[in-house]
Formats: sequence, structure tokens, C-alpha cells
Amino acid sequence: MRTTDNPPPAPLISLPDSLAALATRPGDSDYENVRHTYTRTGSPAAVLRVRTPHDIAAALAQARTARVPLTVRSGGHGISGRSTNDGGIVVDLSGLNAVQVLDARSGLVRVSAGARWGDVAASLAPYGLALSSGDTGDVGVGGLATAGGLGLMSRLHGLTVDHMRAAELVLADGSRVRTDADHDPDLFWAVRGAGANFGVATAFEFQAMPMGDVIAAVTVFDAADTAAFLTRWGAAVTAAPRTVTSFLTLMRGPDGKPVAQTMTVHAGTDTEMALEALTPVLSAGPVLQRQAFVTPYHRLVPTAHAAHYAQQPLTVSRSGLLEHITEPAAAAIASVLVAGKAPMVQLRSVGGAVNDTPATAMAYAHRTQNFSLMAATVPARRDALDQQWERVYPHLKGLYLSFETGTGRRQLQDAFPGAVLDRLMVLKSRYDPDHVFDNNFALPSADLPG
Ligand SMILES: Cc1cc2nc3c(=O)[nH]c(=O)nc-3n(C[C@H](O)[C@H](O)[C@H](O)COP(=O)(O)OP(=O)(O)OC[C@H]3O[C@@H](n4cnc5c(N)ncnc54)[C@H](O)[C@@H]3O)c2cc1C
Repeated sequence: MRTTDNPPPAPLISLPDSLAALATRPGDSDYENVRHTYTRTGSPAAVLRVRTPHDIAAALAQARTARVPLTVRSGGHGISGRSTNDGGIVVDLSGLNAVQVLDARSGLVRVSAGARWGDVAASLAPYGLALSSGDTGDVGVGGLATAGGLGLMSRLHGLTVDHMRAAELVLADGSRVRTDADHDPDLFWAVRGAGANFGVATAFEFQAMPMGDVIAAVTVFDAADTAAFLTRWGAAVTAAPRTVTSFLTLMRGPDGKPVAQTMTVHAGTDTEMALEALTPVLSAGPVLQRQAFVTPYHRLVPTAHAAHYAQQPLTVSRSGLLEHITEPAAAAIASVLVAGKAPMVQLRSVGGAVNDTPATAMAYAHRTQNFSLMAATVPARRDALDQQWERVYPHLKGLYLSFETGTGRRQLQDAFPGAVLDRLMVLKSRYDPDHVFDNNFALPSADLPG
């Protein structure tokens, strides 16, 4: 087994001077700080901290010439862990981290792909603006914005990609493109859900929302009667007004019994409205601890910018979307934790405004579901989790790739149902015919005549 102390030797590759100046390589003092990600150890031959699209094009060309693996990294928080490699080139976008408010009145903002969402939130706050983007400030813009973005205000504001107005990319052939609804609309459709397959996104324009303070409640429930608790919580969240979004983590408490910790956000500060909206969700089970507070949104998603050393040991996850947490679905989900197949199960509410967008609008096509589910475990328990997951699977409808580590055909078909996958395969043939961007959930090409 490979550990951080016992990595395979990273071969040296020769780089032109322009790239060598950006490279951190084995033996460099900073190498330990850049070689790994949040979930995986890696031994890349070079981590290139690119500054411009031109650097990215040169890095793509170099990876091709040297025939080494190519990996794209924004925040390094990818759950599938594919933003490092062994012996290849990592295109590290962390230096491209600008957040610009283009028009404070309309909320149009431009965000570079290497920024972290916590920094985006902090930068937009002085303008009274926010983007709902996820529960963790250290997650990078590039990985999340090319996949979806289920955030703490999703039920009110939709997904992060629903607010995207344009994307700037470096394509496989090194060319730069700015795509939006009027320019390369097929590519713009694909980027919003399957972006990692089509190029290196360098920046995005988003329509941010006006946002003041929010009311947040962190609650720990006794979830010993796990299935009944999940059913009640699910029903309460589905019935709640859109101002309410709730994320739940199910695990074992200190006494070994299941507990559920929820982060529930009411996007607004009217305490009477908040009380009415939140009470059913916060009463879904016996409460062990509760803290509720009024806070600027950005304080919920702080960023630490800590170096990555594969600090997350639960590196195998199975995931799916659900329309409702029915009693049988809750029983199947509960069994994953109760039978000891995964130490952590998470549910994130979607629904509400997420389901206002037509399923055909972009590659992220899941517009009837109310919950995203993930169960995570250590690699040694992968088979046990997979076996138990087969009980859960019939209750699922679709998949959000960002919480899944399996990258097989089934995952692709669930993430991109029916005609969505067909269209993506045709676009893959057009934009990435040589499969340069196949590192993460690789799409097959369609057989195009000619
Ligand atoms: C602790 C934690 C909490 C999370 N919470 C949420 C949540 O609440 N909601 C949610 O939606 N997601 C959440 N996620 C999932 C997260 O959105 C994805 O893992 C995302 O890919 C991380 O983005 P990153 O830039 O940090 O990843 P990286 O590790 O840098 O990249 C991951 C992958 O994304 C692709 N990629 C990255 N940057 C680019 C780019 N610029 N252009 C093209 N492709 C690129 C590459 O395929 C890469 O392998 C969470 C993840 C973690 C670890």
C-alpha cells in the first residue's frame, strides 16, 4: 500500500523554460505542499502554477509531447480525488483567483477558477451579494462550477451553475474560448454539469443574488431510530418554504448510537418568518444540541487555505439523488450506517428553485429531485459499501457526480440520463476528440460520420 511516506518515485520530465519557471517538482522545498489533494496522495512530475491561458495551453502541449498524465486542479477538494497524479503534469489554477464585481447593481460577477468559494463569498459580501455554492469554503470554484453546485441556499436560489452567464476555457488544442448562451451555446450547455470533460475553465461570469444576513441553525439529533428520523426530516424539508435549505450528516455518536447533525439555513433575517419556516425541520427528532444564530452568509463558508495531505480518509463514496425520502428509502439509507458499511452518510436538500430550471437547459439535468445522498467509507470497506448500496440504489433517481468516486459507465448514465449523455458524447467528439480531458468521469465519444 502506498502512503505519503512511501510514494512511488516521480520521474523527471523536461520542461521548456517558460513552464519550468512555474513548476514545483520532486525535490523542491514546496513540493510536499502541492503534490497531494484533500483526498489523495500523489507524486506528479510537475505541478505547474499557471498564471495565464497561454501557460495552460503550453502545459497541455507539454503533457501531450511527453505523453504523461494530465490533471487539472482548482481547489484540490475533488471528492473523486483526481486533481493529482503520479508522474504527470498537474495544471494548478490556484493563482488564478480573482473575484471581480462587474456590475454591483445587476450582480454580475467574474470569478477565476482557482478561487475558493469562501473567498468568493467574502469578496461579494461588501456588495450585499452572494452565490449559493456549497457548504465548504475551501472547495474550489473550478471543480464545483463545472459540475453543479448544491449550496446552503439552493432551495431559494438554485444551483451555482444556474447562475452562470459565461465561461472562459482553454480547449484541448490550446485555443481560448469564451462561451455563453449566444457563443458556442452547445459548449456552454456542456460546461454546466460536465465541464471537466471539455477543457480547462479559467473563469466564469455569474449573476449573484442580493443577500443580507441569514439565520442558521446547527442541530444535533438523536437518530437512534434512524429510518423514522430520516423520513420525518425529509418530509419536513420538502414541505418547508424555499428560504430553507438543510444539509444533514449521519454518523455514530460517542456512545455508538446514530446521531444526525444538520446545518439548516433560512435565507433571511425576519425571525418570526424564520421560526415558522424552520420549526418543523428542527423538530424532526429528539434534539441533543442546538445553536441558532444570525450571520452574514460568508461566515458560514470560511476558508483556511490549508495545505493538502490527503487528510480525508473516507475516500470511497457512493452517491445518488432522491425525489423523496420515503419510508423504504429511509430504511435502505439507514441500513448503510447501521450495518456499519459507511461511517458517514450525508443528505443535502435540493429541490425548490433548483427544479425551476428545465432539465434540458444544461448538462446538469436533474430537476425533479429533492435530495442528494452520499455515503463515504475507507477503501478497505469499498466492497461492503457497494453491496449495501444495492439496497439503496433502487430508490435513487440520478446522480450528482461531485459526491461520487466511482467513474464507471453506470455513474455516467445516472449523471447524464438518456439524451443528455448522447448529446455530451457528440460534443466530446467535437471539442475533445483526442480525449485530453479524460481524467475524471471520462465521456466516450460518439461515432461521428466523417
Ligand atoms: C469537504 C467537502 C465538501 C463539499 N461540499 C459540497 C457542497 O456542499 N456542494 C457541492 O456541490 N459540492 C460539494 N463538494 C464537492 C465539490 O464540489 C467537488 O468535489 C469539486 O470538484 C471540488 O472542486 P475543487 O476545484 O476544489 O476540486 P479539484 O480537486 O481541484 O478538482 C476536481 C476535479 O474537477 C475538475 N476541475 C477542477 N478545476 C477545473 C477547471 N478549472 N476546469 C475544468 N475542470 C476542472 C477536474 O476534473 C478535477 O479532477 C464538497 C467537497 C468536499 C471535499
